[in-house]
Amino acid sequence: MKFKLIFLFFSLLTLATFPQEIDELLIVTDEGTINIPAFLREGTIYSSIVDFAEALKINFFANEKTGKVELKSNYMLLKSTPKNSFLIVTPRSTGVPKVYQLPTSSYLRNGETYIPIAYCLDPLEMIVEKKLTFETPNKFLLGERLASLFEGKDWFFDNPNLPPTIGYGITGLTINEKANGTLIRIHSKTRIPSYYSSYEDGELKIIFRKVNAEIEKVNKEKVGELVKNIQTRNVGPDTEFIFNVGEQYSTNEVMNAPGGNDILITIHNKVFSYSNTKRNIDKWSFDAVVIDAGHGGKDPGAIGVDKIKEKEITLAVALKLGEILKKEMPDVKTVYTRKDDNFIDLYKRGKIANENNGKLFISIHCNVTKKKPSDANGTEVYLLRPGRTTEAIEIAETENSVIEYEENPDRYEKLTDENFILVSMAHSSYMKYSEKFAELLDKEFATNLKLNTRGVKQAGFYVLVGASMPSVLIETGFISNKEEAKFLKSKKGQQQVAESIFSAIKTYRSYYEKEMEAEL
Ligand SMILES: [Zn+2]
Repeated sequence: MKFKLIFLFFSLLTLATFPQEIDELLIVTDEGTINIPAFLREGTIYSSIVDFAEALKINFFANEKTGKVELKSNYMLLKSTPKNSFLIVTPRSTGVPKVYQLPTSSYLRNGETYIPIAYCLDPLEMIVEKKLTFETPNKFLLGERLASLFEGKDWFFDNPNLPPTIGYGITGLTINEKANGTLIRIHSKTRIPSYYSSYEDGELKIIFRKVNAEIEKVNKEKVGELVKNIQTRNVGPDTEFIFNVGEQYSTNEVMNAPGGNDILITIHNKVFSYSNTKRNIDKWSFDAVVIDAGHGGKDPGAIGVDKIKEKEITLAVALKLGEILKKEMPDVKTVYTRKDDNFIDLYKRGKIANENNGKLFISIHCNVTKKKPSDANGTEVYLLRPGRTTEAIEIAETENSVIEYEENPDRYEKLTDENFILVSMAHSSYMKYSEKFAELLDKEFATNLKLNTRGVKQAGFYVLVGASMPSVLIETGFISNKEEAKFLKSKKGQQQVAESIFSAIKTYRSYYEKEMEAEL
């Protein structure tokens, strides 16, 4: 420490004695050198904290009025105030700020805060997460990635409010490779209160707050094709997982495992396969739409006002949609799961869709309330995902209850707990497409129909589980509502609903084809 002080003193002296024209700070990184404006005052070099953040692509918030700037990393916040001789460092996980004293004040220059950058290495390291060194007169070097943000930063720990890390919550992980992705279960002894994930350049980073891991048990040097390896480190009170993923990576989901402390991570493949052959392009081309009229035969579905039956409306809308499709998109095969008043098992509907290589599955239904008539109204579009609201869960239960009409209702695994995650995982790689179509549908309904739209929602529908393709379930309105029942019963109303669905298909098709071209 003494040596460092003498060295600093010496260098300041040198600069003061032989004044140099310095108007730049050179930030030396692996990828090259970035120059940012700087100025020298009384031998100390100052740079704008905003320029620094921009140069290193650090998130920041700058208050133009006050000149206060806050840099933000995954773990830390660093606040600076102009004309002040301190920086405030706050770990996100504790929220407890720590003051870092500077030997000199920051400046306000042209509305920007300039900090004495050579004196800020310690707090800046915690944001940049790399070893930082300063070379006189104006070179700032980025070194190795830090294994620990807190090591050697004793000044940080005289803060009695910083909770120490007690033991290890995360004790291991299991990896389950599936056809369309990888399922990872993180074993945890303690409840993990929050997590955060981000993806960049082949690295999926997931940070678990307020829990540490037994590193040697969760690091994996070699996993597979999609997830290549797993690198873990404890960062203060948090744990960071880095999954190095292959080119076929598309999306991920992180969730608390039901009924325990474990975390489930699903990492998904892209939908389209990679080899750029004619056969593959044919395989994925948008050539079949499956229209599923809900209920039928012995299963009337919901009963609305004036004894109106859901199965009749869903069939009428389905047939009208099919007619439009055949006329407007003759190159696309229209597949019906039923064309007349027949009962079809839910699992068979998915089977029909798969056997016809459907590229989009649209299940048409009507909503109802227990009390009839009632004011509840509006359209809803559902995605296959665990239901978030009681209402969504109830709707899924109602629609799923038709399996009681089937001969072997036991064939359906209960869509609760981990089962759901496993069955819906097959769908996760299509989720981006299902979401897009749902969003387009909702927009079309809002523009074209006089009905209210209740938005895009999610719930666990058996009928969607079976179809291996992007899929949605539409509740076209409430037949327990007098006005909506009248609208849905009318040929004009049914035609309008069908036309809106078709408009969404049309827009979706061009989106899908663009995505496919980009991916194949
Ligand atoms: Zn229904």
